[in-house]
Amino acid sequence: MRYAADLHMHSHHAKAVSKNMTLETMALYGRRKGIDVMATGDCLQPAWLAHLEECLIPDEPGWFAPTPEVEMAIADRLPLRLRAPIRFVLSTEVNCVPSGTGEMRGIHHLLYFPSFASVKAFQKRVSLHGDLNEGRPTLRLTSSELLQLVLEHGRDCHFAPAHVMNPYFSSLGSQTRHETLEEIFGDLTPRLLAVEMGLTSIPTMCRRISSLDAHSLFACSDAHSPENIGRECTLLETEPGYAPLFAALRRGAIQEVLGCLKFSIHRTRYFQNWCSRCKTSYADAACPKGHGRLAAGSRDWLEQIADRPQAIALPNTPRFRMYLPLRQLLAEFLQVGPKSKRVGDLHDQLLQRIGHERFILTKAPFEELARGSSESLAHAITAQRTADPGQPIAIKPAHAAQSELAL
Ligand SMILES: [Zn+2]
Ligand SMILES: [Zn+2]
Repeated sequence: MRYAADLHMHSHHAKAVSKNMTLETMALYGRRKGIDVMATGDCLQPAWLAHLEECLIPDEPGWFAPTPEVEMAIADRLPLRLRAPIRFVLSTEVNCVPSGTGEMRGIHHLLYFPSFASVKAFQKRVSLHGDLNEGRPTLRLTSSELLQLVLEHGRDCHFAPAHVMNPYFSSLGSQTRHETLEEIFGDLTPRLLAVEMGLTSIPTMCRRISSLDAHSLFACSDAHSPENIGRECTLLETEPGYAPLFAALRRGAIQEVLGCLKFSIHRTRYFQNWCSRCKTSYADAACPKGHGRLAAGSRDWLEQIADRPQAIALPNTPRFRMYLPLRQLLAEFLQVGPKSKRVGDLHDQLLQRIGHERFILTKAPFEELARGSSESLAHAITAQRTADPGQPIAIKPAHAAQSELAL
């Protein structure tokens, strides 16, 4: 089975997450985006776990499908051509902050569980170490202590460092200041599932760091709102079910991990250097408005920790391509805000006429896009597919072509 998996997102129980992140809306947007298998997020949170148990039924082992009631509610809100099965995997992100460590030096990790029983037993194990009512709980454990607990909990539970090179809350981030995974996980390092690249790194960056060589790489959205679901995902070809999915992710062979869809890295907040006072990133090491030294983004921090001048090719390195999500592309094409009605209407029209967002961005033939919208928009969409990954993506605006937009 070929499928797109988005294995990192959050429910409305986590901090700074949209209240619309309910299971029904997540499933609906998963389909609009072209995601087949998605993470539940926040599965250690008791109220969310109860909601998941109400809304999901077992499917292929370790995968869960929405109940018929949820399916019906979604079908009402979805164009016919987008109605397809969607499956969930029980998962959460946790924040490891051992006592005596500053809050800003916490490290995020992704955990996966094969069953509700496994999640509940794990809740008992970790409830002493932190407040599970927070969707992304902070645990007073070192990362290697948590990994040890996960490994003891069951061979079918998995642990992956999250958004590995984000400056904050990440294993190899500039603010946590570790340079190798071994510094964090010691002898247990080989037991990691794989490494989540996050929005701030791409395979050619990760493969300049030899401590990551043994680990395969995957991409997820880390969505905090429905619209961001699927902005990054991993394409796989495996037997259906939890065990084959995670075995393939661990191996990272290109016959099974077919590739990653990545958000345009030049547009992410933490690729360049971040000024927490301006809430803006800058190319320079210091803030041009006089706020002093900036938090190094992944681009500059990589130069500190990489032990190779260039990436090497390894069999567990996924192919990848970077895209601007459709809504953002349309906003720049029309030169209006991404939340404007014009963008919303055109977005809906494309989904109705052509298919889900991933198909539109990556696969839909030029003629089909042109028929469903306009030639100039079809050019803007297909140009992303062949863009140079070393250069920022630029969308050519519609200019005078508004009238041809069949709206
Ligand atoms: Zn995180
Ligand atoms: Zn997250």
